[in-house]
Order: sequence, then structure tokens, then C-alpha cells
Amino acid sequence: MPLTIDENRSLWAARAAPRAALPALKEAMECDVVIVGGGFTGMSTAYHLAQRHPEKRIVLCEAKRVANGGSGRNGGLMLNWVNGVEPGDPGRAANIWRATKEGIDLVEGIIRDNGLDVRWRRDGTLSVHTRISGAEEAAREVAALRAEGLPLQFLDRSALPSRLRLEGTMGAVYDPTSGHLDGVSYLEALLPVLTRMGVQVFEGTPVTKIEEGTVCTVTTPGGSVKAAALVLATNAYTPQLGYFRDRLFPLFAHVISTERRSAGDWAQRGWSPQIAGFDDDLDRVAYGCMTQDGEVVFGGGHNSAYGYHFGGKTTWAGEADYASVHQRFLQYMPEAADVPVAHHWTGPVCLSWNRICAMGVRGAAKNVYYALGYSGHGVTLANLAGKVLADLYDHTDSRWKGLPFYQGEMAWIPPEPARWLGYHVVTRLTGKTPRKRGVKH
Ligand SMILES: Cc1cc2nc3c(=O)[nH]c(=O)nc-3n(C[C@H](O)[C@H](O)[C@H](O)COP(=O)(O)OP(=O)(O)OC[C@H]3O[C@@H](n4cnc5c(N)ncnc54)[C@H](O)[C@@H]3O)c2cc1C
Repeated sequence: MPLTIDENRSLWAARAAPRAALPALKEAMECDVVIVGGGFTGMSTAYHLAQRHPEKRIVLCEAKRVANGGSGRNGGLMLNWVNGVEPGDPGRAANIWRATKEGIDLVEGIIRDNGLDVRWRRDGTLSVHTRISGAEEAAREVAALRAEGLPLQFLDRSALPSRLRLEGTMGAVYDPTSGHLDGVSYLEALLPVLTRMGVQVFEGTPVTKIEEGTVCTVTTPGGSVKAAALVLATNAYTPQLGYFRDRLFPLFAHVISTERRSAGDWAQRGWSPQIAGFDDDLDRVAYGCMTQDGEVVFGGGHNSAYGYHFGGKTTWAGEADYASVHQRFLQYMPEAADVPVAHHWTGPVCLSWNRICAMGVRGAAKNVYYALGYSGHGVTLANLAGKVLADLYDHTDSRWKGLPFYQGEMAWIPPEPARWLGYHVVTRLTGKTPRKRGVKH
């Protein structure tokens, strides 16, 4: 039976404590900053702005519920690095790594400072290399980055602490600072904190129209908000609002998760319980994480793990091939063949042509802030975005200049029907998603 995005609940949403939805906006309001979207980008921006400016009136409009989008449907890997950037100069690469680590540190700090009850772990992930040339290059890069003070390790195949050894796996980079985050548990815990800080959050409040100017106006079915600044925190949904239509490519990603098992059980099957997750170097990147409760979440690795709708629609209507995603998982972990799949779901990922995300400010009045196009690395980057956008708002953003996402110009993507045709022809013929190769930094 076809799934729609609403029926199709992630593991994270399925196990969240029930909560009555917050009321929808039903009046005409004025405020200082209006944020559109209640995912990591919108909520982190609200947090940093409210913390710095307790006197400012901040309103957040979420079309459905907080964590409805990718933030509540992802694979849970909280990784360093900016997707699409190929490491070049070690000093610059170390700067990028330190910036993204700050995104993870921010999540950790918010959890700690506010005593949040969140399902997450930060005990490192593996980036698996499946080609000998790639593994050799990774080993050299790790050596150069260690010389810059980064705590990365290269593990060759025989040293891998688990049996994450897809045939052809040549080695992996271990990053001890990355981890796993249950986005629904995080954003649900953050919501009352924002409310206490004075942020007004409206759920069931889709923004249907945006008018820019020195004062921006957003219209919703029940009301409107006028604000001196606007934040677009809608990632894959942004083209529907009329922004970045020729720069963003919303793609659905399908994910499975297994039944819960004990750490000892997984260790016997080959997944060292000390490792929070992994991803690999395939174009259709495979990724998996071990939740702190003992479920394995897995996605990617094959065309069947993704889907694109004509016009970049963000409502999933079609059959997702979860059986193939499961088969792919078993190629990584054949020992898990008898562990049933307990959940499966799909959600919108937002790709840019070269996979590099963008965070910046635009508009004639320079008051429309945006952070989007995370291309699958948004758990860290969308949480970092709140700080970057708050710095842009405060004109204290000089430290971000030179980083690949800062005021990033995303490349042009052909319109429909070339886009739909191009995607389907290229993925069928090559098994790869069309892309412009990454930039060396
Ligand atoms: C299946 C899947 C697996 C992924 N796995 C990983 C992973 O393992 N690691 C990783 O780093 N990243 C992963 N990602 C990507 C990551 O989840 C996203 O990049 C990140 O969550 C984006 O956060 P966001 O807040 O910008 O957008 P979203 O979380 O999508 O939030 C946007 C919000 O805006 C709301 N909205 C949309 N339109 C309107 C409107 N008109 N008015 C008001 N509100 C609106 C939506 O309802 C939504 O809640 C994955 C994504 C998916 C879908």
C-alpha cells in the first residue's frame, strides 16, 4: 500500500512520548524574527537567538509538528565534515572539521546545560572505504590531519573492531567525536526550553506566502506574522515556498530499523557496541547506526534506498523497496539475518548539485536568512546552522568566512522535465545520483 509522509513514522517518532500538538496561529502578529520550519535548523536558530536576545520576540511556524521533516526521520548519524567537499590542504580541512565538531559540541552543550532527557550517544563512527586507492588516500589524509591535531585514526581491514566488512572493505577512518542522535527525542526535549525562553512556537501552521521587504510578512491559513527578519528553515521543502527552486534537489531516502537486541547480542554478531555508527564511500552512501537502546538503523547503499518525484514533491506517494534496503544491510551484517526489521520509513533529503550546503542571508533588505541543502549531513550541520545564522544576524559572522557553506552559491540544477529524466536515466545506467564533483578545500 502506498505510504504518505504522514503515515510513515520513523522509529524516533514511533517511540516518542505522546504530546498534544501546540495551537496553530490564529491571529495577525508582529515580532522581531519569524522562523519557518521546526526542524534542527529552525529550532537551533530559535535557541541561539533567544539566548542572545531575550528581549526579542521570536515566532516559529511549523507546518505540521516539530521534527516532522528530515530532523525526525533521519538515520541518526551525527557526523563531522561538510558533504561535497573533498579534503585538500590539511590546514583548511582541519578548520572545516573543527567547525562541524562545534555543531556536535553545541548539541551536547544544549543537552547538558538544560538537563535534557535525550536518546543519543557520542562514542565515534567509522567511515568505511571500499576501494584500495580510496583507503590509501584516506590513510594519508588521516596522517596529515593528525599532524593538525585532529583525533582521527585510520584502521585497516584487519583492525576493524567489528565485522562491518562489506566484501571489498579496505579500511575505515574512526572519528571518536561523532555519534548518534534521536532527532525527535532531542527536538521534543528542546521545545519546552524554547517556550520558557519566550519563543512562540505554532504547530499546524504552514506558511503559504512570503512577502519580503524591510518588514517581511508570512501568511498562514489562520493568520500572519510581520517581522524585521525571516529565517527559511525548511530545507527540502524550501522550493515549495518559491526559493532556491533551481538550486535544490529534494530526494526521498528510505530507512529500516531492526528489533532491539542487547549489546552482548550485537557484539556476538560482530558489531562492537562501542561504535555508534558507520557510513561508506559509495556514491549511494550506505549508513547505519546503533541506537543506545540496541536497534540498528540502516539506509542507503543502493538505488532502491532513494526515490525522486517529478517536480521535487515532498509528499511521498509510492512503494518504497524496503526489502532491497534490508538485503543491502545483510551484505554488511549477514549475522543479523535472523533479527527482524521492526520499522521502516522514508523522508526528504535535500541535495545541492555539488552536495555542499549553504548558510547565509539574502534579499534586498538583507534580512532573509537561510540554511539548507545539507545533502545527508544535516544532523550536525543543521544544528550548527542556528549558531551561524545567529552570528549573521548579529554581524559577528567573520569567523565563518571561508568555510564552504558560508554564503554558499549553490550551482544551478536543470529544471523539469530534464531533472526528472536525468535523475532516472543516470541512476538506472550508473547506480549513481547525478552530481557535480566536489570542491577541494
Ligand atoms: C531518511 C533520511 C536519513 C537521513 N540520515 C541522515 C544521517 O544519518 N545523518 C545526517 O547528518 N543527516 C541525515 N539526514 C539529513 C538530515 O536529517 C537533514 O539534513 C536535517 O534534518 C535537516 O534539518 P532541517 O531543520 O533543515 O529540515 P527539516 O528537518 O526537514 O525541517 C523542516 C521543517 O519545515 C517544515 N515546513 C515545511 N514547509 C513549511 C511551511 N511552508 N511552513 C511551515 N513549516 C514548513 C517541515 O514540516 C519540517 O518540520 C537524513 C534525512 C533523511 C530524510
